[in-house]
Amino acid sequence: MLLIKDIFQQNKRTYSFELFPPKTEQGFQNLIGTIAELAALKPDFISCTYGAGGGGRGKTLDVVQHIQDKHQIRGLAHLTCVLHTKDEIKDILTDIKSRGIPNVLALRGDPPQDNPGWKPGRDNFRYSSELCAFIRRHFGDYFTIGVAGFPEGHILCPDRDRDARYLKMKVDAGADFVITQLFFDNKDFFAYVDRLRKLGVAVPVIPGILPITNYASLTRFCQLCGATITREVKNIFEPIVDNPEATRQAGIDFAVRQCRELLENGAPGLHFYCLNKTSPADQILKAVR
Ligand SMILES: Cc1cc2nc3c(=O)[nH]c(=O)nc-3n(C[C@H](O)[C@H](O)[C@H](O)COP(=O)(O)OP(=O)(O)OC[C@H]3O[C@@H](n4cnc5c(N)ncnc54)[C@H](O)[C@@H]3O)c2cc1C
Repeated sequence: MLLIKDIFQQNKRTYSFELFPPKTEQGFQNLIGTIAELAALKPDFISCTYGAGGGGRGKTLDVVQHIQDKHQIRGLAHLTCVLHTKDEIKDILTDIKSRGIPNVLALRGDPPQDNPGWKPGRDNFRYSSELCAFIRRHFGDYFTIGVAGFPEGHILCPDRDRDARYLKMKVDAGADFVITQLFFDNKDFFAYVDRLRKLGVAVPVIPGILPITNYASLTRFCQLCGATITREVKNIFEPIVDNPEATRQAGIDFAVRQCRELLENGAPGLHFYCLNKTSPADQILKAVR
């Protein structure tokens, strides 16, 4: 079994990539090529995101299955519970298990843009911690469960201590590891890990790294997810916002510095948000590994 928690038992650092499911058949074919390139870098696992409500659910699982079956690399299937009933989630987990996928990132997710007012009822999960508990109750130890962590606090819970306590609830409910939201100030990551350790959370907390390739879209994305664009990042990238090649190179240099500092100070691995591209994550990984 390609369980992610087995890597943690070997106590080694993990290097991993995150992809999203393409919308078209041509996109899927392109992604297959990208996965082959990423597989050649011998990552410990590759994850694939899940659209709220499960519109592209089959595609998420097809991508993860391809990663496992074709390349014998651990796959991690993201699963969000917004818009799904508990019965639906049970069916989806049964499908995931029947495909031989043993690793799940258990998320709450966000209501989609076309249904922003959706609220959970009695048949739905309210939080990721409830999903973690449900997975353990119905599927025992079959799955390695990952969860999302927020070094700056989740956008709806900027009280960092409280947000850390909610993270502990996910681990107490059965989560085996954490992957964080992107961040640009490593102090936020280390302070977050300290908060969690003080609460007794002992599982690996893997930093999520977004290589900056397009500063304008980064600022839009950070507004949505609540990650801070630091003064340092602004100073580097604002003056070159209209120069894609300079941005790309500065993005690599920044990420290499960020990753080196994380690893030197004890981060248990790196998880790259690749945006379905091999580069520049490949260059960054080669420089820091
Ligand atoms: C690594 C990573 C991968 C992601 N992948 C996807 C993806 O594939 N698809 C997708 O749609 N989204 C994805 N997201 C985004 C994520 O779904 C959103 O950030 C979502 O808003 C929160 O999900 P969660 O699982 O952290 O929720 P939760 O842990 O349930 O937290 C949600 C909010 O509720 C609060 N909270 C938690 N527990 C309680 C409680 N008991 N009482 C009161 N408040 C509580 C939290 O502080 C937070 O504000 C990802 C995020 C990360 C960091």
